[in-house]
Amino acid sequence: MLPIHVAKFGGTSMANAESIQACVDVVERQENPTLVVVSACAGVTNRLVAISHSHTQTERQRLFDEIVDIHCQAASALPKENAVHHHLAQLHQLLHILVQQAPDALESHQRQKRDELLSFGERCSSRLFAAYWSQTSATNAEVADARSLLVTNNNFGNASPNIDKTREHCADLREQLNQGARVVTQGFIGSSEEGNTTTLGRGGSDYSAAILAAALDAEQLNIWTDVAGIYTTDPRICSDARPLEQISFAEAAELATFGAKVLHPKSLKPAIENGIKVFVGHSRYPEKGGTLILPEPDERPSIRALARRKNQTLLTVNSVDMLHATGFLACLFDILARYDISVDLVTTSEVSIALTLDEEGSQANGLSVLPEAMLEELREFATVTIEQGLSLIAVIGNDIGHFGDISPWVLEAASPVPIRLICQGASRHNLCFLVTDEQAENIIKKLHAKL
Ligand code: ASP
Ligand code: MG
Repeated sequence: MLPIHVAKFGGTSMANAESIQACVDVVERQENPTLVVVSACAGVTNRLVAISHSHTQTERQRLFDEIVDIHCQAASALPKENAVHHHLAQLHQLLHILVQQAPDALESHQRQKRDELLSFGERCSSRLFAAYWSQTSATNAEVADARSLLVTNNNFGNASPNIDKTREHCADLREQLNQGARVVTQGFIGSSEEGNTTTLGRGGSDYSAAILAAALDAEQLNIWTDVAGIYTTDPRICSDARPLEQISFAEAAELATFGAKVLHPKSLKPAIENGIKVFVGHSRYPEKGGTLILPEPDERPSIRALARRKNQTLLTVNSVDMLHATGFLACLFDILARYDISVDLVTTSEVSIALTLDEEGSQANGLSVLPEAMLEELREFATVTIEQGLSLIAVIGNDIGHFGDISPWVLEAASPVPIRLICQGASRHNLCFLVTDEQAENIIKKLHAKL
């Protein structure tokens, strides 16, 4: 019996009839038993989010109509269109009830309802995928509701999966897959132990797929997207960026965290912990190959790739009380943790600390990264300076800071632009620095030219 694989298709791969058919063709060519995990059709989750923010009924209705239209268009090339219509109509009807009472996203007790609303994108797209798969192959494809597989806590909007419980819930599915069943499930959504619908944060389908791969003891996770793998840098910045054949888990994790949009940063953790290889390829052009992420790649170049993350905030906290004092860092991080603020980079001097925060955050609730109440708490013992509109550039590779010296190369490429912060030493796999958003592209071009 061949080991199980998980194949995840992103929103652009699910965008329309033609692209869904291409995904089905990809799956049909797989030899291993494969669980399919899908994102919502491109643009649908954004519209659902907009519905949850919108206060006018006409606007909500317009967005709802557009969603229905995307799904109907996507269904239109099915040989037997009717087979999926009653499923879609049922889901649209349920969605419409929520649309008419769209929750106010800012009220925390409404986050549960919002997750229910957001779940419809994947619930509809999984029906579309199963319909195309069933109708263009000899066997029927079923939809498994991810809410009966993926168990999470009840942190609505950014829920954390419970891998042990998910594993228990996946026992039957594993059996079915091994017996040749064709199964499609939804990315992004799960269910709390109480049975409420949850979501894993924007872009969370990769994460879902990785959790399900771990729960099924899968051998490989295939992420099918709209690029043929991971590149040396963003090809929109450098037209000569090259796809990477292989990359290590550690390097890929740094790349995902520091801006490469190909993979959801959290998605690699379950794969790393369970030794599951990850392949990233283009769902439309699978023949172009892709990138394999694995524990030990054949080569370990000192510089593998460059990533950029826009919209960074630099928060500098300065306090003379810190001079020779203990516990200052603990106090600062305690405040940040209480406000659920995730910090990326940190540098310190004797009396001040500079840290970077991601302005977009990963929370589906879209809360500010700098809540006023938190700033007030900080100002009680320190001076706080905020700089926005910065870009983080990450140089990703191996044994950085241990062999050779990449610093002159980085400084030369950045010169004469001021570097607002620089971090190296915590990881052998990255060197990161901050510059203004406007200057970042040019610096990446200069760095990439020597790669
Ligand atoms: N549909 C969800 C989103 O757009 C999840 C995903 O695509 O991964 O955020
Ligand atoms: Mg997506």
